[in-house]
Amino acid sequence: MTTATAPAPKSRHAKPTVPDQKMLIGGKWVNSVSGKTFETLNPTDGSVICNVAEGDKADIDLAVKAARAAFETGPWSRMTPAERSRLMHKLADAVEDKRMELAALETLDNGKPIADALAADIPLSVQCYRYYAGWADKIYGQTIPINGPYFTYTRHEPIGVVGQIIPWNFPLLMQAWKWGPALACGNTVVLKPAEQTPLTALRVAQLAQEVGFPDGVINVVPGFGPTAGAALSGHMDVDKIAFTGETGTGKIVMTAAAQSNLKRVSLELGGKSPNIVFADADLDAAVEGAYFGLFFNQGQCCCAGSRLFVQESVYDEFVAKIAAKAKGRKVGDPFDMSNEQGPQVSQEQMDRVLGYIAAGQKDGAKMLAGGGRVGDKGYYVQPTVFCDVKDEMKIAQEEIFGPVMSILKFKDADEVLARGNKTMYGLAAAVWTKDVKKALKLANGLRAGTVWVNCFDVFDAGAPFGGFKMSGLGRELGQYALQLYTEVKTVTMAM
Ligand code: ADP
Repeated sequence: MTTATAPAPKSRHAKPTVPDQKMLIGGKWVNSVSGKTFETLNPTDGSVICNVAEGDKADIDLAVKAARAAFETGPWSRMTPAERSRLMHKLADAVEDKRMELAALETLDNGKPIADALAADIPLSVQCYRYYAGWADKIYGQTIPINGPYFTYTRHEPIGVVGQIIPWNFPLLMQAWKWGPALACGNTVVLKPAEQTPLTALRVAQLAQEVGFPDGVINVVPGFGPTAGAALSGHMDVDKIAFTGETGTGKIVMTAAAQSNLKRVSLELGGKSPNIVFADADLDAAVEGAYFGLFFNQGQCCCAGSRLFVQESVYDEFVAKIAAKAKGRKVGDPFDMSNEQGPQVSQEQMDRVLGYIAAGQKDGAKMLAGGGRVGDKGYYVQPTVFCDVKDEMKIAQEEIFGPVMSILKFKDADEVLARGNKTMYGLAAAVWTKDVKKALKLANGLRAGTVWVNCFDVFDAGAPFGGFKMSGLGRELGQYALQLYTEVKTVTMAM
């Protein structure tokens, strides 16, 4: 999805060097009030990339003040929707122009293969900014014929100051999902990137400043969850909080919102997505889709197809094929374009994933591939495949967020539908079959915000995404995300 004039990617990219980073508050690049910094680490070897200003309550306070001023009295508050759209298009262009630099920075901080950053994270982020730039001047209410001599209409107004907390698995893309609709609707934002991956958020904020976003419209405060994140979600002058991360953290954020000022809340949380392969499916396509749907991004996807149900008559054949593929997966330096898998984001995440692999073995699942670390430097984990997994095993119940596949056997559609839904999560699901009746039965019956049929991980800025049940609240992307960032006002005028 790169432009026609883009140079062909090199086989190996150079690691960038990055200076120490400040935070962006009210159009100024500043140190934290406390003077504290934290280290952001390179997951390929645990080395320090640079020091980053560490925001806390005092910095969040300043950022919220700047965002409030920009919302109420700054140039942003007087800008027409078409002018906002123009700025957002410029931001999309700037991100696209800097795609090599941004992809390298994302790979450095997160560990994802640069090939993936260039093929997925960058183009999807650019598309998201463009998509919402297109919406900015198309957000409006209705005129409503109520009873009596009245003229009644609605206005879709921005909510105000929006706090946004994002995770480390897709830093650039999660920033775009948050900023796109928030800015299109006319809000101002305070973003807290994940402490593991603050670098691209800060660089994109710089680009936004360069293309002309007025001071205070966009503020970025790096820092930790229990400090900066908690200050943002509990702030009395933040009108809405948007969060992506773990379900447990989502509960904390929602509680903080409730206990402060009842700010609006949207949450995109964890998942344990069923990926269901019927015997009548195109088996090779299903193997490819299941492999991609689990191992993509080192398995660090909230929608990963981490409960892979395969119908019994094709089970052995399917399992053999996918285990062979996993064994052949190229793991290594993410700056090498030929590698498919880089390190997990952190030591903590690697240890957590290895803990789940141990649990799978202890619970008696059959391990067909992987099972340990790759080497002893960096946070690399072998692509791991378990078959004969049972519903009650830990690896079939909990979100692993790593390259660990759990394969379960099923008999028929009714059984797999019931088992697929037996989870507290409901983010995504997929079905592989050539039978349209079966496809529709499952697509209708699965309690998940997204159901892919004969495909997996198909994302587009226009297609809403979000969770049923404990996978979240609200829908990001598409027209639906505009609801997350607007208040509806009813105006009734006596005639
Ligand atoms: P993970 O464990 O995978 O890092 P989290 O849900 O903890 O997932 O993190 C997602 C984002 O939430 C990060 O930006 C993190 O700093 C933030 N976060 C963590 N704890 C809190 C909290 N108590 N309040 C607000 N934000 C938090």
